[in-house]
Amino acid sequence: MKIIFLLIAVLLIWWVLRTLRSGRAAASKPQIKNMLSCKYCGLHIPEDEAVQHNSKSYCSKEHAQKDNP
Ligand SMILES: [Zn+2]
Repeated sequence: MKIIFLLIAVLLIWWVLRTLRSGRAAASKPQIKNMLSCKYCGLHIPEDEAVQHNSKSYCSKEHAQKDNP
């Protein structure tokens, strides 16, 4: 019966180490970019991909033009 407890202990240690490692990997990832929503269709786009018009943000030039005729 001892071998079963040993196996469980090894599995637990492996699982804890794996969780710690994945936690560290997630922490080192770059932060999620600031998301903006299109004022015309509501689609969410990253800040650096958004089209700015009259201090409003749009997903594309088309929607910027449609919202500002
Ligand atoms: Zn849009």
